Amino acid sequence: MRTRTVLVTGGAGFIGSHVADHLLADGFHVTVLDNLSTGTRRNVPSGAEFIEGDIGSADAAALIRDRQFAAIVHLAAQIDVRRSVADPVADARINVLGSLNLLEAVRAHAPTTRVIFASTGGALYGRFVVPPSPETDAKDPEAPYGIAKLSVEYYLAYYARVHGLATVALRFGNVYGPRQDPHGEAGVVAIFCTRLLNGEPLTVYGDGTQTRDYVYVHDVADACVRAVDAPVPPADTVDACAFNVGTGEGTSVLALAQLLQSVSGRATDVVHAPPRAGELQHSSLDSAKLRRQFGWAPVTSLRDGLAATFAWSAESAGSQT
Ligand code: NAD
Repeated sequence: MRTRTVLVTGGAGFIGSHVADHLLADGFHVTVLDNLSTGTRRNVPSGAEFIEGDIGSADAAALIRDRQFAAIVHLAAQIDVRRSVADPVADARINVLGSLNLLEAVRAHAPTTRVIFASTGGALYGRFVVPPSPETDAKDPEAPYGIAKLSVEYYLAYYARVHGLATVALRFGNVYGPRQDPHGEAGVVAIFCTRLLNGEPLTVYGDGTQTRDYVYVHDVADACVRAVDAPVPPADTVDACAFNVGTGEGTSVLALAQLLQSVSGRATDVVHAPPRAGELQHSSLDSAKLRRQFGWAPVTSLRDGLAATFAWSAESAGSQT
């Protein structure tokens, strides 16, 4: 009988813990592998098995060999773009070599295990594209973080083409929702929630017209779960097995701040700080391919998602006092 256990790397983190929740709700067994560098044990759902460990370790490779998972949803990563700029070697060690360690273990010992990789849309497509970007738009990552993600995508295509593995890269937009840490790509939502709760002003870099594709974490988890079983296309090119996961809508930081003030019922000042060097002006993702291939569509409006996120932030701030 086919094994129905899925390994979620990074399952003690923000997105990974929601993926674990959704997989369990769908009837899968779930094993979480996480080194708790940014994640926490309390994020891991009680129905999941938890293994503390590093994706780059021999133990991780042995786990993949011994368990023959149906799939690996690989979310464990160093997610701080600024840290990748400060220390590209450390970033690549985790995000490139760690991922490669898993892929090599699958190739050598578990070739029927599907690999689903958390890539990025926001940090991948170049400055000169006109959003919303389809998967085939020019890639021109600004930071080592995006370069590492794109490198792993090339490895995924290589392992699919040359070794016949089933691989999928999901290029997430700016994911937001409950359990989010303020340091990631869409940390702005978590930061704004905290500042509103503390009665502090919201800081907007530049004029606030820069846009991003904010996608709710439940919709992202749904895409990950669909990728476990859906048929995957042959990997002729790096884009063939890559799928954008976004809403297709760009929302400006100013509009985001205003919407969050409206749903939270709290209004603090918006203050402007100098624009951040190298920041992309506009980004959003065309997810038509994911809709066609996996029947996926985002179902959470930005208003509803922000309301749920603010409610969670308020509750967790209350439980800490
Ligand atoms: P997160 O930091 O909450 O989760 C990452 C998890 O990986 C953490 O629990 C951390 O402890 C774990 N981890 C880190 N290094 C590890 C290692 N070497 N071995 C084992 N575990 C390790 O971040 P997140 O926002 O949930 O991101 C999950 C994935 O989605 C990442 O791959 C990230 O690059 C990608 N992504 C996130 C966004 C976003 O907006 N949050 C956007 C695009 C892509």
